[in-house]
Amino acid sequence: MPFKALQLSEPVLRGIQAAGYTDPTPIQLRAIPVVLGGGDLIGSAQTGTGKTAAFALPILSRLDKNTNRTRVLVLEPTRELAAQVETAFHDFARFTDIRTLAVFGGVGYGHQRAELRKGVDVIVATPGRLMDYIQDGSINLRDIQVLVLDEVDRMLDMGFLPVVKDIISRCPRERQTLFFSATVPPEIQAVASFALRNPTRVEIGANRSVNNSIKHALYPVAYDQKFDLLVALLEKTDFDSVLVFSRTKHGADKIARRLKSQNHSVAVLHANRSQNQRIEALAGFKSGKYEVMVATDIAARGIDVAGVSHVINYDVPENPEDYVHRIGRTGRAQAVGDAFTLVTPENADDIRDIQRFIGQKIPELRLEGFPYQPFGVARPPAPRGQQRQGQRQGQRGGNRAGPAAGGGGGRSGSRGSNPVGPDRDKQGGKVGFRFRGRRG
Ligand code: AMP
Repeated sequence: MPFKALQLSEPVLRGIQAAGYTDPTPIQLRAIPVVLGGGDLIGSAQTGTGKTAAFALPILSRLDKNTNRTRVLVLEPTRELAAQVETAFHDFARFTDIRTLAVFGGVGYGHQRAELRKGVDVIVATPGRLMDYIQDGSINLRDIQVLVLDEVDRMLDMGFLPVVKDIISRCPRERQTLFFSATVPPEIQAVASFALRNPTRVEIGANRSVNNSIKHALYPVAYDQKFDLLVALLEKTDFDSVLVFSRTKHGADKIARRLKSQNHSVAVLHANRSQNQRIEALAGFKSGKYEVMVATDIAARGIDVAGVSHVINYDVPENPEDYVHRIGRTGRAQAVGDAFTLVTPENADDIRDIQRFIGQKIPELRLEGFPYQPFGVARPPAPRGQQRQGQRQGQRGGNRAGPAAGGGGGRSGSRGSNPVGPDRDKQGGKVGFRFRGRRG
């Protein structure tokens, strides 16, 4: 079915054409009629499915014209997402006079205040900065007709829920509410029950599935050889642009420094960087100035960069959901991408959790010609600043920071699972060690 059949307004259809879209994606096909009809909606779809347009297009069609009153509020967990979603609204609205504004922290107040004074129809905001403006009277929510809560699971993770509830309660009761969350655990269901009325549920595919246009693989390696393997993978892979994920900000900086010393052009994205640095990193990565971007999970959530050909998980993500989100950075909107995960024996439990979460086994590969050391090399003690994290991980999943040698990768403990450690017999073989699915 073409976009034309969906009853979107004429200027919005022209905006879609200018964006180069020809056919709606499955979530767009299902969500657009609901949103156009004024109903509430809970949407869960894997990342890269076209979720933003699924709500932006019908909302813009309903707004029709500029009124200088804020009628639409979209809440996003991160600055990058707020900027990206506002850009999508702005682009789709290019043949209308509807005014949009991104409101987020880390930048000065001057430009945002000036735009607010002129009046805007759509605000896409992160909760903290929005609250500043609500409290000083620069924004009031009395004219809100449509409230969009995007990436609610991430807002919960980031501790935004109290402020999000406060914002919801300041919007008029008579409104349309659209709610997007990759997962809907009980805390999120409670917010949905409080915020929505008779919502239609739109689920595209299994929440947990990875986009099947992505080929993904595990690369088992000794802890001490992770960086060397990363460099070797970059050397041997025919890539356009690569997103490398680190668990920590400090780790991201370190990987970036080392890659630069190997003559890669590298950008870094994490929460300790200033807003201007983040904007420069993203713009440079999008334009091709940087071939590699090293990022942490929160900073990279929802980043939409066309043409990310490879995602490399330098560190295995802590939460299985983050695996799906990271991998979703490549293969967006049906393009094909590759996703590699470097795994050490210490990661066995995390990999089992990820495989259970996504309901599939990730194939293990070995890079031809790489001088693999035996796995099970003891991990060096964590530097002082990282010890808290090590302890936290230890509590969650056994002794992650401990030496992997000695059978079971130091992981025989708390989860009651079969210890799966390095399979020494296979050092020279195809697969280094196995990640079996856990029962139960
Ligand atoms: P999203 O899931 O909203 O982050 O969108 C993922 C990517 O898909 C973005 O690059 C969009 O521009 C692109 N996209 C969204 N809808 C369509 C469509 N109908 N046709 C082609 N590309 C699309």
